Amino acid sequence: MNITKQNQIYEGKAKKVFATNNPAYYIVEYKDDATAFNGLKKGTITGKGVINNRMSNIMFRLMEKNGIHTHFVEELSDRETVVRAVKIVPLEIIIRNVAAGSFSKRYGVEEGRELLSPTLEFSLKDDALNDPLINDSHIIALGVASEQELESIRNMAFKVNDVMKEFFAGIGIKLIDFKIEAGRLPNGEIILADEISPDTCRFWDAKTNEKLDKDRFRRDLGNVEEAYHEIFKRISNA
Ligand code: UDP
Repeated sequence: MNITKQNQIYEGKAKKVFATNNPAYYIVEYKDDATAFNGLKKGTITGKGVINNRMSNIMFRLMEKNGIHTHFVEELSDRETVVRAVKIVPLEIIIRNVAAGSFSKRYGVEEGRELLSPTLEFSLKDDALNDPLINDSHIIALGVASEQELESIRNMAFKVNDVMKEFFAGIGIKLIDFKIEAGRLPNGEIILADEISPDTCRFWDAKTNEKLDKDRFRRDLGNVEEAYHEIFKRISNA
């Protein structure tokens, strides 16, 4: 495949997106920049871009093997990957297996409490509004996604959870929660997009409950780089 990078079309908090010589593909480039609390906390996690790129691609290949269509096409370098050009549905799609973070705060539930069943929630991706929670009927009424698209997104999210939970259990990691994003192809199909990394998931060591994800940065727990490396090492040896 002969895809070459052209102009930058978007720069987010953790990635840049470039157009290519083929309108069906973009190239994403992962940065070491880290932000939390809607950009209020800023920093750098050295080597994060490389780990998130390579880890996301491993996860996307695992999803494809399990019948979940993703935007992944080809890893170009440590930080760059060719992906299918999609329009991102402006939703943060969050699945939780164990209470943590904003869920624990909102409902007054201690972090670490196992949920009786996995939960799904949506936030509207809108920094100016602080990514407010949004329900299914709001999503449809506002035209953020159609009823059929929501159905595909729900099915995809729970399937991703099943595949990830099993995979991470096999490498001694509890999958607490995670965020994914969905993209629309020109033919209307909904596929898995964005990234799957310690920036977007909560991973706890199954034996010690040690946090091996971005909460180390958010909460100033130290050993941030080490946690990203530990997760990546376990995934690579799986
Ligand atoms: N998450 C994310 N991007 C966001 C918000 C959340 O990737 O903008 C991920 C986060 O890493 C965690 C899950 O979604 O794995 C649930 O996050 P939560 O709602 O608890 O938010 P937080 O505690 O991070 O504010």
